Amino acid sequence: MEVILTVVFALFGSAIGSFLNVCIDRLPLGKSLLYPPSHCDACQHPLSPKDLIPVFSYLWLRCRCRYCQAPIPRRPFWVEVGSGLLFAFIYWHYGLSVEFAVTAFYGSLFIVLGVIDLEHKLILNKIVYPAAVVALIIDVFLPQPGSVDVYLPWPWLGIVNGVIGGAIGFVFLALTYRVSLRIYKQEGMGWGDVKMAALIGLVTGPLLVLFTLAMGAILGALVGVILLLLKIKKRKEAIPFGPFLSLATMATLLWGSDILNWYLGLL
Ligand SMILES: [Zn+2]
Repeated sequence: MEVILTVVFALFGSAIGSFLNVCIDRLPLGKSLLYPPSHCDACQHPLSPKDLIPVFSYLWLRCRCRYCQAPIPRRPFWVEVGSGLLFAFIYWHYGLSVEFAVTAFYGSLFIVLGVIDLEHKLILNKIVYPAAVVALIIDVFLPQPGSVDVYLPWPWLGIVNGVIGGAIGFVFLALTYRVSLRIYKQEGMGWGDVKMAALIGLVTGPLLVLFTLAMGAILGALVGVILLLLKIKKRKEAIPFGPFLSLATMATLLWGSDILNWYLGLL
């Protein structure tokens, strides 16, 4: 039964992934999510349901459009695979629970934010602002994944918890941004990252926000060094911070309470 449900959530996740791809493709261009229906970017031919089965259509068609044989971009495939694996993993980790739903929602949100930043070096206000409102609502009514809520005796404290986390994230990254502008005289990061840090604070709360930002920075630095060594990127080329912040936030949502116990244990 467990195995069947895990597979079901993997398929469900990859179907969500195919919607996330629509968001990633269209939101930065200011296009509607609903219209026009999915079509091949090369020949504009509308895609039929059998072309739109997540993950499998891509493999079946051997990465080419059925109608014009143009190669299909690879990212949608990886987003579908990634969301499928993520959903299956969250189910395996949290079981069928409120934490599962909340983590799956945030996972989807941060996939969209991270991939758009990777492709366009943009963190969109039209995603961050509504997401902040939803995060506040979740703070009040639902348990936080990576449950910091065990430390909160009253539910309304959830909103205080979230807002303080958001403020810490905002101030910390705004200061980092200012200092890095002084030192490097170029924009390594931007206000988009600062707003994203505030959103992460709303999601994780004050006890985990700095840890999450630090984890994102370390991941980013590691990947940056590797890309430099492999000569994939040049020294002056900035790599976007958003994807690493997204990964770090996911890790916190999954293992936040373990992380917290670990560093409270150190005190
Ligand atoms: Zn085509």
